[in-house]
Amino acid sequence: MASLADLPIRDNLKGLSPYGAPQKEVRYALNVNENTHPIPEPVAHDIVEALASALLTINRYPDREFTTLRERLAAYVGHDLTADNMWAANGSNEILQQILQAFGGPGRSVLGFPPTYSMHSIIAAGTDTEWVAGERAAGYELTPELVTEWIEKTNPDVVFLCAPNNPTGTPVSLETIAAAYDATDGIVVVDEAYAEFAPEGQLSALSLLDGRERLIVSRTMSKAFAFAGARVGYLAADPAVTDALRLVRLPYHLSALTQAAAIAALDHTAEMLAMVDDIRRQRDRLLEELPQLGFTVWPSSANFVLFGGVHQPHALFEALLERDILIRDLGIPHHMRVTAGTEAETTAFLAALEQLGGASFGAE
Ligand SMILES: *Cc1c(COP(=O)(O)O)cnc(C)c1O
Repeated sequence: MASLADLPIRDNLKGLSPYGAPQKEVRYALNVNENTHPIPEPVAHDIVEALASALLTINRYPDREFTTLRERLAAYVGHDLTADNMWAANGSNEILQQILQAFGGPGRSVLGFPPTYSMHSIIAAGTDTEWVAGERAAGYELTPELVTEWIEKTNPDVVFLCAPNNPTGTPVSLETIAAAYDATDGIVVVDEAYAEFAPEGQLSALSLLDGRERLIVSRTMSKAFAFAGARVGYLAADPAVTDALRLVRLPYHLSALTQAAAIAALDHTAEMLAMVDDIRRQRDRLLEELPQLGFTVWPSSANFVLFGGVHQPHALFEALLERDILIRDLGIPHHMRVTAGTEAETTAFLAALEQLGGASFGAE
C-alpha cells in the first residue's frame, strides 16, 4: 500500500496534517462548540416537510443562485442588507475557501492572528495561499495599532479577523476592524461564527459594511442555529464580492435539500435561537465557576471558554474522557477549551473537574 509521501502531491501540502478534532461517541461532547441543544421537534417536522417537497423536483438542478435563501438570510441579519449582499455555502468553511480561491491563491498571502481557528491556515494551504501568522497582545487582544502594524509589515492580500476569536473567546472591537480595513488594499474577512452569543450591546462588523466594499462578514448556522450537521454558512458583503465568488464556486454548490432545510429553519428563527440565552448563561457560569476550582479563565463572547492553570492538559483530557466527557486540547500550554452545553452537561463537566481535584489535578 502506498503512503501520502509516494504521491506527487503539491509541495505546499507536504507534511501537513488534516483537521482532526476527535469525533468520539461520548455522553458529553463539549469539544467542537456545537449547539448541544437539539432543534425543537415542531421545527424539525417543518424541515422534513420542506425536504419532502424539495425531493419531488430533485431530478432538476437546484436554484444556482439560491435566491430565496439569500432573501431569508438578508432578512435575518438586518442592517438594511438585501439578497444581493448575501452569499451562502456548505458551511462557513466553504465560504472562507471560496474567498481565498477568489482573493488569495498562489503568490498571495493571508494574515491571521494565532492562536485562532485552525481551519483558517488549513484553508490557506488548500488554496495555496501563504499563511502569515501575526501576533496578539497580552490577553490575546487585538488593537487597532497592532493589526495596522502587522498589515504594514506583511502586506497581505487577505486579512482574517476571528470575532470573537476561537479558541480564546476574545472579542474584536469595531475600531480594530476599521483600522485593519484602512491599513490594507486587500480583503478583510471578519469570521463571526459566534456572533449570536455576544453580550448585549456588542456590535457586529455588519454595521461597518456600508461603504467598505472590501469587507466581508462571514457567519454560520452551525453554532447558534444548532445546524452544524446541515452545513450552511453565509456571508454579507458588497454585491461585487458575491460576483467574485460566482467565478470560483462550483455550479449548484448548495443542494436543493440544503437550501430547503436552511429556509425552513430560518422561517423558525425565534425557536431556533431560543437556546442562545441559556447557552450564554452556561458560558457565564463556566467563567464564574472554573476560577472557584482554581483555574484561570479568559473573557469569552462565544459559546465556549478557554481556561488555564491546567498542569497536564493531555492527562485531564483523558481523565474527563474516562468520565464520558470530551473537551478540547488545542496545544496551548496549560490551557483547554470547553463548550458551554446544556445546564445538565455543564453541571456534569464542572462536577467531574471538582472530583478530579480542580486545578490541582496533575500537579507534581
Ligand atoms: C465553528 C466555526 C466555524 C463554523 O464552520 P462551519 O463550516 O460553518 O460549520 C467557522 N469559524 C469559526 C471560527 C468557527 O469556530
